Amino acid sequence: MCGIVAYVGEKKATPILIDGLKRLEYRGYDSAGIAVFGKEKIECEKKKGRIRVLEDSLSVDYPEGNAGIAHTRWATHGAPSDLNAHPHWDCNKKILIVHNGIIENYIDLRKKLKKAGHAFNTETDTEILAHLIEEHLKNEKSLFEAVRKALNEVHGTYGIAVMSEEHPGEIIGAKNGSPLIIGIGDDEHFIASDVSALLPYTRRVVYPRDGEIIRITKDAFEVRSIKSKEEATSKVEKVEWSSDMATKKGYPHFMLKEIFEQPLVIRNAIAGRIIPEEGLAHLGGLNYTVKELLQVDRIMICAMGTAYYAGLVGKYMIEELLGIPVDIENASEFRYKRIILGKNTMSFVISQSGETADTIAALREIKRKGHRVLGVSNVAGSTIARDTDGGIFVHAGPEIGVASTKAFVAQIAVLVLFAVKMGRHRDMTVEQGKEITEALVKIPAQIESILEKSDEIKKIAEKYKDVEDFLYMGRKFNFPIALEGALKLKEISYIHAEGYPAGEMKHGPIALIDKTFPALFVAPKDSVYDKTINNIQEIKAREGDVLAIGSESDTELPKMVEDFIAVPETIEVLEPLLTVIPLQLLSYHLAVLRECDVDKPRNLAKSVTVE
Ligand code: GLU
Repeated sequence: MCGIVAYVGEKKATPILIDGLKRLEYRGYDSAGIAVFGKEKIECEKKKGRIRVLEDSLSVDYPEGNAGIAHTRWATHGAPSDLNAHPHWDCNKKILIVHNGIIENYIDLRKKLKKAGHAFNTETDTEILAHLIEEHLKNEKSLFEAVRKALNEVHGTYGIAVMSEEHPGEIIGAKNGSPLIIGIGDDEHFIASDVSALLPYTRRVVYPRDGEIIRITKDAFEVRSIKSKEEATSKVEKVEWSSDMATKKGYPHFMLKEIFEQPLVIRNAIAGRIIPEEGLAHLGGLNYTVKELLQVDRIMICAMGTAYYAGLVGKYMIEELLGIPVDIENASEFRYKRIILGKNTMSFVISQSGETADTIAALREIKRKGHRVLGVSNVAGSTIARDTDGGIFVHAGPEIGVASTKAFVAQIAVLVLFAVKMGRHRDMTVEQGKEITEALVKIPAQIESILEKSDEIKKIAEKYKDVEDFLYMGRKFNFPIALEGALKLKEISYIHAEGYPAGEMKHGPIALIDKTFPALFVAPKDSVYDKTINNIQEIKAREGDVLAIGSESDTELPKMVEDFIAVPETIEVLEPLLTVIPLQLLSYHLAVLRECDVDKPRNLAKSVTVE
């Protein structure tokens, strides 16, 4: 949450910073601000609302300087307003700071700084940093040192960029628990929250680690430890994503583009990872020997949001295929409870961005207890990608839509590969390995055939656009899909939706059903089909409308329900990869019909980097 971008170079900073903010807007969009060196002083402009509002407010004579910082906010402390928007000033209006994260000891620091004579203008936690740096600059010539010393007094999470009128030509950044990267251009350097801000300008980046402070100028960058000031090792890496991958490519929304990219995404996630004649999967990054894989007697998967539901699909799948018990944990709960992992437990954390705060905290907690952790992530260079002991990249390309879609199917696809790899080292037969991998290879074309039904799904959405509640139900592999479908609906259309295992219905939720409260069932022809059909009948008996996702070959279910969306058939463990697609399209069309901002749903932001 929150996007930061900073620039020092030879070009005009303002257009680069505004463009960078637009590329980061999915990270937060309640207010935005920019500060650029003018001829004599730094000019700062900040506005409540979207980046477009900030851009429109910049006067024609807004400075054309070559260095500046900018921010798009997702408020944690202080309501979204012009005043609380970043950058924040010190008392003398010389120092400016943008910040992503939460300064946990800001109340104590504010008291201390007030006593020392500092006056505060905003309700944010961030503002104390500007004053703290100002305080240190009283005894310190170097901005780098003043920031470093200030940060040694701070507890919490931060990705920051700082500039000072008295230190032109340099910007200081620092990172602790929030994402921050350095971009290396020709005669220019950047700081940004993630690579998408920089793709049009450079694909050469450095990933500083937590606890590191950086200084960028036009010609150079340096990275040091915040604590000891010692120089840190920093490798310049090449980003694989292209600038074009982070555009809408003619689609009205990123989310729709990403839904339609899913066939390609699965092809990329499995490319080069299947050995078809042996029914085997190859995953180079796991860093587990065969002997170690054989010793695993339990698996723990930890994640948040949509990634958690992908993990839940993984649990059903791995337990079914491997007979190994799998615990699925919500990272925000897991991190604070007693962690009980056996010495042969294999732990996974899943996060699209690789920067989810709770998931990172859980990862650290597991490591602190001396266990190895594997990651499933989409972003090379992210904290999770770097801090895990191995893992699997999903190769889904940049996901910009706040509601995750393509990352979800990619996460499931790589978990299938993992189950096959692990299974084939254990007691999975070559035939079973072949059956799964052959079915997986067919999934992209099957998704294409579902995507062709987008208009049909839109017509169904028109019927439901005014409902205020929905029950989503499924069993076994499709229970997580009911949860994920309900989450998508809530996130982008603001229709209240609850996902349940269909069998749970009679333990409470059915009390809600009447003519105005529809139910959606995910009911392909699988091992629990008959049971799910009984639940549908129970809803029908109470006059509830039913929308069902079912198999193409099913001739009975369409007659039973008000609306039916058919999906092609596959083996049971892979059903989620198909049944989720109509649910994504349904939420999308409902959101558009309800005139919701699909790519920037209210109160949400992508990459939840604060707890
Ligand atoms: N805590 C800061 C604020 O509320 C930054 C928020 C964030 O990173 O999401 O302004």
